[in-house]
Order: sequence, then structure tokens, then C-alpha cells
Amino acid sequence: MNMQSYSHTLLTELGNIVGPSWVISDEDLSRWEQDWNQRARGKAFAVVLPASTDELASVVKFCAQAGMPIVPQGGNTGLVLGATPDDSGGQVIVSTSRMKRILEIDVENMTASVQAGCVLQELQEAVQNAGLLFPLSLGAQGSCTIGGNLATNAGGTQVIRYGNMRELCLGVECVLANGEIWNGMRALRKDNTGYNLTQLLIGSEGTLGIITAATLKLFPLPSVQHTAWAALSDLDKALDLLQLAHRHLGPSLTGFEVMGREAVRLVVKHMPSLPVPFAPACEDAWHAMIDCSAYGSASGSGAVFEHFLEQAVEKEYINDVVVATNEQQRAQLWHIRESIPMAQAQEGLNIKHDISVPVSSIPKFVETAHDAIARAVPGARFVTFGHLGDGNLHYNVQAPEGEDAISFRHTFEKQVNQIVYQAIQQFDGSFSAEHGIGSLKAEQLLKTKSDTEVAIMRSIKDALDPLGILNPGKVILPG
Ligand SMILES: Cc1cc2nc3c(=O)[nH]c(=O)nc-3n(C[C@H](O)[C@H](O)[C@H](O)COP(=O)(O)OP(=O)(O)OC[C@H]3O[C@@H](n4cnc5c(N)ncnc54)[C@H](O)[C@@H]3O)c2cc1C
Repeated sequence: MNMQSYSHTLLTELGNIVGPSWVISDEDLSRWEQDWNQRARGKAFAVVLPASTDELASVVKFCAQAGMPIVPQGGNTGLVLGATPDDSGGQVIVSTSRMKRILEIDVENMTASVQAGCVLQELQEAVQNAGLLFPLSLGAQGSCTIGGNLATNAGGTQVIRYGNMRELCLGVECVLANGEIWNGMRALRKDNTGYNLTQLLIGSEGTLGIITAATLKLFPLPSVQHTAWAALSDLDKALDLLQLAHRHLGPSLTGFEVMGREAVRLVVKHMPSLPVPFAPACEDAWHAMIDCSAYGSASGSGAVFEHFLEQAVEKEYINDVVVATNEQQRAQLWHIRESIPMAQAQEGLNIKHDISVPVSSIPKFVETAHDAIARAVPGARFVTFGHLGDGNLHYNVQAPEGEDAISFRHTFEKQVNQIVYQAIQQFDGSFSAEHGIGSLKAEQLLKTKSDTEVAIMRSIKDALDPLGILNPGKVILPG
């Protein structure tokens, strides 16, 4: 059989499983092949869109028999090329976008069961309508899926109170590399019966199995939320402010974000209609957003929040502050914060890092990395923002004003990465706090982890995917 008719046979067989119109190969595949950051575009053999776990399992079984590698994909908003195929034209993208049903919201057990392709925001809204909260919250929530959130162990803006996706999941259903279905959809808060396979799959970025559904934890819906945006002189003050917030707000502190001056300026520049606090000057070096969720009367928690801010002003931790007085203003402040990734994308590609260090080391880390980069690349702009409460910063280095972003990245990426990785090591941090490894950081993983850790990871991969067909080239590279 020649190559063309072999391809045709494969496509026909896949079409027999999911229906011919759900195997896409002869039209523009860019929305699946191109990553969100426009960093790389692969070339897929086809995109296959199963409608159910059984169909997805049959697709995997067929691909395993044909020796055809699979790239699982949800909303394709990942930032480390985890859902991007290579450029061989030989990999199949398996998209979960048709598997998006909310299967059950169990109000009494405070759990939700959903299919993997459910869009995060749709789940948040449905849960809220049932009077509860699903707390995962991030800028891509209108497009990213629960399967992708689990596969990357997504974090976002409320980790300080509710934890990462890992903490929010009780069980998953998944399709293994041989097409077998494993149903671990247990809605139990306590279950010490051997190795926790759900936790193994979370954060595995589609390399150990394809998650098809999950049971997630829900929380009481806060009756009131208070949000403030403050201007600060430096990160040491931001750290003082964080400590003060912990002391005054306790577990009602649900978000603590920081944004460097350049990050805020880019929003002002590219989204001029947004009412950015303290614009247009943006003279303050740092901005912070503090979010507090409370139960009971608004006046009680409002007084506590106000007292916390008064103390912050009195102690000179902050230079200025605005407080949202209604839900619309609150949403607007969060919208401004969540517009930073889009604003920097509009400014042009930059050199990205998603670092974490112990919270107390953040100011020293930033000082160390800034100084070294400013010496090596004069004029570079620092687009730094992120989740200070979790010790996690998006530490991005942008071309000097007016310089071509692509050639800047090309010329300086290696050098800047080296400086940042060195600083991470100096402060015992991580080079990927919440975005994962994908193919973008797979080499770095090998450089950072001990031989023992790499060997354990490889044996887990070999045990669950002996043929190496699940997302090859991602997370853990073969020896
Ligand atoms: C504007 C913006 C803001 C963001 N903010 C944050 C943030 O605050 N915090 C944060 O943690 N992340 C953030 N991200 C990145 C984040 O990882 C993704 O938004 C999200 O978690 C990925 O979901 P997805 O459905 O788009 O997955 P995709 O991009 O489709 O896939 C991501 C990875 O998961 C795998 N995968 C997808 N679905 C499955 C499945 N069902 N089973 C197994 N593997 C699967 C893919 O193969 C790939 O390796 C942001 C991204 C953007 C664009």
C-alpha cells in the first residue's frame, strides 16, 4: 500500500470511530496546530474529536495499534507547547472539545463531576447558579478546559486560599495508552487505598493518560468579596503588606497579586479604555491586588478589610489604594489584572518565565535577576506580575522600547534564561511554577532534576505508556 492510500485508510478508520466529519485533515488546522503564544506551529496528521469516553478509548486503541502518536488537547491555551504537535505530520491531535458536559453537581456532597472538555468558566457559572463555588480562576478561563487544567495542574489567582488544581480534584476517569478506560471518579475526601493514581495523572500533561472526566471539590459561595488595588514603592513593602493581610484577614484572604510598573503600562498602552488605577503616570514601581472573600454580613468583613488597609497606609507599606465598592468595579479590577498576558502579547513576543521561590525570597530574587539582566541586556523591559501570595511570578523580559521583539528574543533568550535559571537555583526555586513543562521546558527539566528523579519519571512513563505514543517529546524525554 502506498503512503497516500495508507493515510486514507487511517483517516477512514478514525472516521468509523467518531464519525467522518469529526476527523479533520484537509482544512486549515492552525487553531489546533498553533500555540496560544504564537511561538510554534506543528503539523498534525489529523485532528480527531471524539464525543464520549468510549469513542476516545477506541481512538487511542486504534492509534496504539497503528503506532501513531497522540497529542491530547483541550482549549489550547497552554503556555509551554504541551498541546502542540511536532512538525512531522505524523501525530494525531485528540481534542476533548466535544466532551464538555457537566455530569452532576452534588450540592450535599459539595462535588461536581464533569467531562474533560468542559470549559472552566462554564463550570464556574453552573456551580455558582447552584449556590456553590468552584474556585479555580485564571485569565484563560473562557477557553481552557477542566482536562487541560488537570493535566497542567493549573494554579491561578486563588491558590493562596484553595490550592492548585491538584487540591481541587477528588478523582478522574482516564483513557490509558492501550485504550483501556480507568474509572477513578470517586467523590471521597478520604481514601487511603494504595497509590493515588488520580494525583499521578494530574500535572502529567497528557503523557501518562488522557483524562476524560473528573470529580471536583466545591466550596461554600462567599457572601461578600472585597478587593483593593494598591500602589507600592518596592517588593519588600509588598511582602510586608502580604504578612499584614495574612494577620488581619486570615483564611478570608483569597488573592494577593503583584504587578510591576511595566506590566501595568502595557495594559494602559494596549487597552486604553480600561480604567487602570493610578494611570496614566504609573509612577509607582509596583501594584498589588488584594482579594478577600467572607461569609456573613458585608459590613462586618468590610470593616475588617478597611482596618487592614488603614494599617497598611499608616505603616507606609502602600502609597495609595482604591477599593472596589461594588461587584462591577471588582470585576473590572480583575479584568485589568487578567489583561496583562494579552497586553504583553500585543507588545510582541517576550522571553517568558514562570518562576517560584519561597515567598520570603521574592524581593531578593527579583533584585538579583533584574541587576544581572540589566547589565547583560541594557534597556530590556521587565514585565513582571503574578501571584506573590504563592511565591510565583511571571518574570518576562521584553525588548527595549522600539526594538524588534522577534530578533530580541532570538538574540538574547539563551542568555536571559541562563541568568534567570541561575537566580532560581540560588533561591531554591522552580523554573515552572504553574504552566508545566510541555516541549518548551523538557530539556531544562533534565538539567534541573537529579538522576534519581529523572529515572523514576522515566520508569513511570515506560510503565504507563510503553510504546511512547502519548504526547511524545513532552515533559520527560526518553534516555
Ligand atoms: C491568558 C492566559 C492566562 C493564563 N493564566 C494561567 C494562570 O494564572 N495559572 C495557570 O496555571 N495557568 C495559566 N495559563 C495557562 C494554563 O495552563 C492553561 O490556561 C490551562 O490550564 C490549560 O488548559 P487547556 O484546556 O487550554 O489545555 P491545553 O492547552 O489544550 O493543553 C495543555 C496540556 O494539557 C494536555 N491536555 C489537555 N487536555 C488533556 C486531557 N483531557 N487529558 C490529558 N492531557 C490533556 C495537553 O496535551 C497539554 O500538554 C494561562 C494561559 C493563558 C493563555
